[in-house]
Amino acid sequence: MAEHNHNKDQQQSRQFATKLIHFGAEIDPRTGASSVPIYQASTFHQFSLDDPQQYDYTRSGNPTRQALEDYIALLEGGVRGFAFASGMAAISAAFMLLSAGDHVICTEDVYGGTYRLLSTIMNRMNIETTFVDMTDLDKVKAALKPNTKVVYMETPSNPTLRITNIAEITAWAKGQGLFTVLDNTFMTPYHQRPIELGVDLVLHSATKFLGGHSDVTAGLAVAANESLGDQLKQIQNGLGTILSIYDSWLLMRGMKTLQARMEAHELSARRLAEWLSNHPKVEKVYYPGLANHPGREIHERQSKGYGAVVSFDVGSGEQAKQVLGKVKIPLVAVSLGAVESILSYPAMMSHAAMPREVRLERGITDGLVRYSVGLESIDDIIADLDQALRS
Ligand SMILES: *Cc1c(COP(=O)(O)O)cnc(C)c1O
Repeated sequence: MAEHNHNKDQQQSRQFATKLIHFGAEIDPRTGASSVPIYQASTFHQFSLDDPQQYDYTRSGNPTRQALEDYIALLEGGVRGFAFASGMAAISAAFMLLSAGDHVICTEDVYGGTYRLLSTIMNRMNIETTFVDMTDLDKVKAALKPNTKVVYMETPSNPTLRITNIAEITAWAKGQGLFTVLDNTFMTPYHQRPIELGVDLVLHSATKFLGGHSDVTAGLAVAANESLGDQLKQIQNGLGTILSIYDSWLLMRGMKTLQARMEAHELSARRLAEWLSNHPKVEKVYYPGLANHPGREIHERQSKGYGAVVSFDVGSGEQAKQVLGKVKIPLVAVSLGAVESILSYPAMMSHAAMPREVRLERGITDGLVRYSVGLESIDDIIADLDQALRS
């Protein structure tokens, strides 16, 4: 009979597409079932009190969630994965590695929820943050304090897709004895694997591309070494912000098609970005795949692709609202990374809480919209956007 247990080395040596399908738990060893069983149980009978089992209580561990955690660790090339109730729960867990009195250097282009966490909650715990332009190593260096513990990156950033040089920042941070964290939501491990570039902890809002279908809210974390893994395990169990059993299963279902989806998303995103670049009603286009995108070469060194998020400026808030009102194909919504296209308006959605002057400084103008390109026909997407831009 075919032996389907893969040893770890064999698994790691395979191509990404194979890892996505043969991640270790794809066949249930007890029954041969073709998908990970949903162990919908909060507790586990202890067969022998003297001989503890792997699982005792679902907050501390559950086989369905464990399969997902091993899956993301394999994909990112880390040693241990963790699944949380949302991207923000994973990000919060990362900051719980710190202690009162510690200092964080964080990219100024960070996801809005992370900005709020750091500036309204972590600050009350006496954890202070300096937000810096991470495209410039000198600015990062200048933010260093005696109590700095962590450098927090996000690249490409949201919504203007600015590029941070992961290896350069990480090498400097290591030299200073700091640990590094990177939010890899936009690229996914298919396009970008930060642990291979020296990053200690990778985070995801799996609500986006990893889940891929706008039907699950989840967060993932992957530790590059065992000691960080042990600390995160303690935090995950201590805070109790675990991903539910059913959502763990649903997320794995989505992840199996990650590469196929990302390839299709990206082909369309590239066409959309090129088309927008030549459109008379569009003032500026942000997409790492465009020849003139700042930091494009750095991005190409550290990533295998450009992703599916294209931001563009239609000139004014009035025109942006017009476009949002006239499009027929995309969902007009926050979020991204799904099979359906999603059009967002940062000024009134993700970045509404940011003071207008700060927003404008970061290039998030009243005319900026963000298109997460879905799997619809790109011809239809373009025709739809064209009628919305011209009407
Ligand atoms: C959406 C998002 C988050 C937050 O994730 P949730 O699942 O909504 O909690 C964090 N980082 C980035 C880059 C995101 O896009």
